[in-house]
Amino acid sequence: MTILDDFIIITSNGIYCKYADFYLDPQQPVANAVISHAHADHAVSGNKEVYCTQPTKEFMYLRYHRSAAQVFNIAGYHQPFNIGGVTLTFIPAGHMLGSAMILMEYKGTKYLYTGDYKMQPDATCEPIEWMKADVLITESTFADPDVIHPDPVGEIKKLNDINSNILLGAYGMGKSQRLIKLINEYAPRKKVLVHHKIMPVNQIYERLGFKLGGYQLYGRKLMKEQKEFVYLVPPFTFNSYIKAIGVKRLFASGWNNLQVNRNDTLFISDHVDWNDILTAVQQVDPQQIWTLHGNGRHLKEHFGDNIVVKILN
Ligand SMILES: [Zn+2]
Ligand SMILES: [Zn+2]
Repeated sequence: MTILDDFIIITSNGIYCKYADFYLDPQQPVANAVISHAHADHAVSGNKEVYCTQPTKEFMYLRYHRSAAQVFNIAGYHQPFNIGGVTLTFIPAGHMLGSAMILMEYKGTKYLYTGDYKMQPDATCEPIEWMKADVLITESTFADPDVIHPDPVGEIKKLNDINSNILLGAYGMGKSQRLIKLINEYAPRKKVLVHHKIMPVNQIYERLGFKLGGYQLYGRKLMKEQKEFVYLVPPFTFNSYIKAIGVKRLFASGWNNLQVNRNDTLFISDHVDWNDILTAVQQVDPQQIWTLHGNGRHLKEHFGDNIVVKILN
């Protein structure tokens, strides 16, 4: 078993495997794109061949229509496929519906690219699973011992203490659906109203068998009737609603915490925190860790001479 130091490299188009000419979550349109999940920073339009899970295809199609891909090659979890001599397998990443880690096997060596992943329970996506690999290629957005994510249930329960209608800002794909499900479960007195841009995403979830619980399309008159509404809106709408009177404004964010006041934030992250990353390393049991998106410095310090940590970005 030999680890190829240049099996995955960073180019101007994104994360590249030159041994089989494919990109992982390319930032520019390319010939062969393996896409881990549908968030816009991982799934751009205009690629020729796209390899992804069925839900990822549906979300990309919703956003990009016909420019989503020339050809979609769909693979289910644990169904190996081949690109240029590399065997690839999607493994559930627990990040949003359809999100996948990408296991790549080449000449007997296993490389596992995590994409975005999370370990907190989330009934709106497939639970994360683990595979052993020789190289763990992990996102390191929150790879800092100071970052420990709070329990999302505790965050959602804060809604129960608010006695006015609530304007809740959140990303429309993935985060919003997780919030709807959590509100139905842990703040059941609240009624969820949904911005029209979020509705088609909900419909994909429901159609694929992920029931979110109760919610309805926002209507202007509804909020005047009573005070138990939570109106879920995407970030751009949230920011334009500054003048809403008698409405508590909250933003659901994974970031702790940049410009926003703690009291105005539900701290709910769809990424791994420091302890989660250490768990991932235990599960994958790699000889090397390559880091992306963030800061690998703390991991390098933590593992010292025990595991080689290489910072790719
Ligand atoms: Zn993501
Ligand atoms: Zn991301």
